[in-house]
Amino acid sequence: MRGLLRSIPIIVLGLIMFVPNVFAAQSATRLDGVSRYEVAVNVSKQGWSSASTVVVANGKAYADVLSATPLAYKNNAPILLTESSKLTTPTKNRISQLKPRKVIVIGGTISVNNQVVSEIKKLGVSTVERIGGVSRYEVAERIAKKLPANSKAVIANGTAYADSMAIGAYAARNGIPILLTTSNSIPSPTKDAMKSKGTRSTIVVGGEISVSNSVYRQLASPTRIGGNSRFEVARNIAKKYYSSTKSAVIGNGYTYADALAGSVLAAKQGRPVLFTDAGSLPKPTREAIGSNRMTTFTVLGGTISVKSNVISQLKNPIVGKKIFIDAGHGGSDPGASANGLREKDVNLAFAKKVYSKLSSGGALPIMARSTDVYLTLSQRVAKAESNHADIFVSIHSNSASSSATGTETYYYTKYQATNSKRLATEIQSRLYKAMNTRDRSVRTGNFHVIRESTMPSCLVELGFITNKSDASKLNSSYYQDRAASAIYNGIVAYY
Ligand SMILES: [Zn+2]
Repeated sequence: MRGLLRSIPIIVLGLIMFVPNVFAAQSATRLDGVSRYEVAVNVSKQGWSSASTVVVANGKAYADVLSATPLAYKNNAPILLTESSKLTTPTKNRISQLKPRKVIVIGGTISVNNQVVSEIKKLGVSTVERIGGVSRYEVAERIAKKLPANSKAVIANGTAYADSMAIGAYAARNGIPILLTTSNSIPSPTKDAMKSKGTRSTIVVGGEISVSNSVYRQLASPTRIGGNSRFEVARNIAKKYYSSTKSAVIGNGYTYADALAGSVLAAKQGRPVLFTDAGSLPKPTREAIGSNRMTTFTVLGGTISVKSNVISQLKNPIVGKKIFIDAGHGGSDPGASANGLREKDVNLAFAKKVYSKLSSGGALPIMARSTDVYLTLSQRVAKAESNHADIFVSIHSNSASSSATGTETYYYTKYQATNSKRLATEIQSRLYKAMNTRDRSVRTGNFHVIRESTMPSCLVELGFITNKSDASKLNSSYYQDRAASAIYNGIVAYY
C-alpha cells in the first residue's frame, strides 16, 4: 500500500515530463477595434475596470508619448488616444466610464489643443495636467522629472519609435525614465534630465544606426540592447529581461499606435512587447516565442494591423519551435536509384514541402540541406545540435526487391526514447494513409542521425523507390503534398 502510494507521484511526474501537449495549449486573444482610438479603449478595458488617472495623447503624432509609459504605469493609468483638436468619441466615452479624477495630457498644444482639454474637463475631470515641451526630447525630460528617483535611464532614438515601445513595459515596471536622443548627438534636454536624475547607468536601446557609438560612449556605464531590426530589438529585450515569462503583448511593428496603448498594459501584466508584420510572424519574434516557450499572447489591433494568419500561428503549438528537416543523401551520395528516380532528389522534394508548411505554420524550420549537396551523417547531427533544434525529422525513401512496398518510421532509444517514439508514431499514423501505402509501422532503427541526435528524432521511409507503385507516388507532387501535410500534422500533434 505504502509502495503503491509512493509510486503515484512518480507516475504523475512521468506524465508531466513526457506529455507536453497536455500543458502547452497556446492561446491568443485579440484586442480589436475599428480605429486606434477604439483599440486603446479596448486595451484599457482589458487592464482597468477603474482608474483614478488616465493619460491622453495624440493618436497620430505620438513622438511626444514615447516616454509616457513609465508615467502611466506609475499612476496605474491607461493610455487613451485623441485627435489633436477634437476629443475622439470612443475616448470620450471611456473617460466617462472610468471617471478619473485626473487626466494627464502628453504633448504641447499642437499635439493636443486646449479645445480637447476643455472637453475633458466637461466630463467632470477635476484636474487636467499637461506635460508639454517644444520637442519630444523636452517632453521626455519633463516626464522623467515626474518619476521617482532612479539612477538608471533608458536611452532610445527619438525617431525610431519601435525601440521605445519595445522597452516601454520594462522601463515602466522598473520606474526607469525613457530619455530620447538623436543618433549622433545627445540633445540638451536629455543631458539635463540625466544630470538632474543623477543617472549612473544607462540602457541603450537599438543598434548603432539608432544610437551611434559616439553617443554610446558619452553615456554613464551603458549597456546596449541592439538588433538589426525593430523585431530583433524587441526579441533581445524579451530574452534579456523576460526569460521566464511565458506570455507577450504583440502589435504591428510599423503602425505603432496600437503598441503605444498596449505597452502600459504589458507593464501591468509583467509581459514584454513583441512586434509582428501584418501577415506573418517575423523570424526574430518566433525566436523570442520559442526560446521563452511562450504560450499566451495578447494581440493588439484589428485584422488590418494583424491578420488572422498571425493569430493562427500564435495558437499553433509549433510556433517558434526549431524543427530540423533532414533530406537524406545528396551531392555525391544519390542514395537508392530505381524506376528513373534518385533517392536524394525525392527526399529533397518532400523535405522542401514540409519546410514550407512548417514555416507558414509559425515554426522555425531548419533544413540540413536545401540543395543537392553532400553532408556527412555527423555533419547533419552537428548542424541540428548547434542550432539547438527541438526535434529532428529525417526523410528517406526505401529500397529492396521490387515487390517490397509500404511506409515506415524509425526512432532510436539512446536519447529521448519516449518522445522519439511518440513523434514517430504521430507521423507514421498519418503518413502511410496520406501515401496510401502499406503500414509497415513504427520501428526502432540504429541509424546514425537518430541515434546521435540528442533531441527527439525520427526517420521516415516514405515508400520503396524500387517498387513501381510506390515510386510513382514518390514522383507525384500530389502525393508529395499529402505526405508533407501528414508529416506537418504529425509534428503539430506531437506538440
Ligand atoms: Zn536513404
